[in-house]
Amino acid sequence: MHGSALAHSSAPPRPDSAAARPQAPAPSPAEARISAARLVPGGRPVECKGCGSRAVASRSIPSCPLCGCTRLEDRPDLGRIVAPRSILPFTVDRQAAQRAIQRWARWRWPTVRDPSSAHAPVDAYLPYWMFEAKLRGRYRGLRGERTRSTRPGRRPHLRWRPTAGVVALRFDRLRVSASRSLPESMLQGLAPAPFESHPPSSPPATVASWTERYAVEPREGQRAARARMERALRRAARDDIGGDQPRLHDLHVESAAFDMAHVLLPVWISVIRRRGQLQRVLVDGRTGRVLADPPARRLGAAVLAAVLVVLATLGLAVLSG
Ligand SMILES: [Zn+2]
Repeated sequence: MHGSALAHSSAPPRPDSAAARPQAPAPSPAEARISAARLVPGGRPVECKGCGSRAVASRSIPSCPLCGCTRLEDRPDLGRIVAPRSILPFTVDRQAAQRAIQRWARWRWPTVRDPSSAHAPVDAYLPYWMFEAKLRGRYRGLRGERTRSTRPGRRPHLRWRPTAGVVALRFDRLRVSASRSLPESMLQGLAPAPFESHPPSSPPATVASWTERYAVEPREGQRAARARMERALRRAARDDIGGDQPRLHDLHVESAAFDMAHVLLPVWISVIRRRGQLQRVLVDGRTGRVLADPPARRLGAAVLAAVLVVLATLGLAVLSG
């Protein structure tokens, strides 16, 4: 909502340099902490010397599924971590994941020349921070409105009016990836996860071959989430100011509610030969969606469409001739 409109100012406005200033320090995640090795009972805590990923692996894993490096160093102590609040089950099995990769590869010729070059996918859990929050921002700014001069030949000018108000936003299931071993485009491509608002009575355990320990610590994840939320609040405040040119001068952010959770999402990881090199592909363990970085276009479909257009044109030419 807007504050009352005040006297018109013809002076140039101050630069639009609003800085969101959180009033209270962000709450620390009030979650139970467990030893990271407990993520997989009987698992092998390791650190990959290739990509730096730390994980609890099954005893039979010969190499890191994230980078293919075989130098997996035993790390009996992976430290204590915030217990995961939810570990989502796989609904896509290994054979279905393999079929999804081959189907995906067949449509990516010539980027992928040999769909059968895909390795058997490895089941893994990737860590994320999930947030639910309600934020309120009190703002002050200027609304610039174009006014037309009644005198002929005079150009329209901006009339500036100071304005103030409050905007409130609710954030549901905002997700920050807590892995540093894969490109962000792949990590953000997984389907949204439900937010469990009540921690389980005992931390669950995963049964995947590779369960990554988060590399982005809770405070860092929280800062990233706050920054995204505050950007959204700044956009909302500018919309609220309205006019032809909204100028936001300051924004005072308050948390009405803030909750975060450590969530593990299931994926299948494979490598495939693309442009002559082995590259990773992920399959979402809940939807079967294939993710690659960089994403390869469906060139095969484009070629097929072009061939059909040429054939149709030739057919028309023959009929009309
Ligand atoms: Zn690795």
